[in-house]
Amino acid sequence: MRAVLLILLVLGASTRAYGMTDEQKLTWYLPTAEAQWPGSPCNGQEQFVLEAQLPEGKDGWFAYGTCDVYLAPGMSDNQFCIILTHELGHASGYIGDTPGDHSSDLNSIMYGGRLRGDYAPCVRRTWQRVKHMHFRSAR
Ligand SMILES: [Zn+2]
Repeated sequence: MRAVLLILLVLGASTRAYGMTDEQKLTWYLPTAEAQWPGSPCNGQEQFVLEAQLPEGKDGWFAYGTCDVYLAPGMSDNQFCIILTHELGHASGYIGDTPGDHSSDLNSIMYGGRLRGDYAPCVRRTWQRVKHMHFRSAR
């Protein structure tokens, strides 16, 4: 029964009871995103603009020459983590093999479009949140 409940919670991670504001998502996922880019000159220096109005189809944007990261509203927890990690990759100085310093590898967090699958560090962090919320509310 508990396993079924946890699966339902993962699938419904964006439901109101377990949902986070974008500010809470940033707090929750930032350590995970920064950990993917050890040694980044922007780690700890970032300025974030949440609920940024970005061009159609864009969920995130990094301003080169700064440590400013723009994140669009309305992303799922997992997508927020993926986009945050991707933009911090740009902030770290990532050099890609395609224009815009993106990777041509569809499974890379630095791929220029939607990832083919999930990004394991983000899935793990989301899972921690679900467990944290479940056991806290069960008390
Ligand atoms: Zn990019």
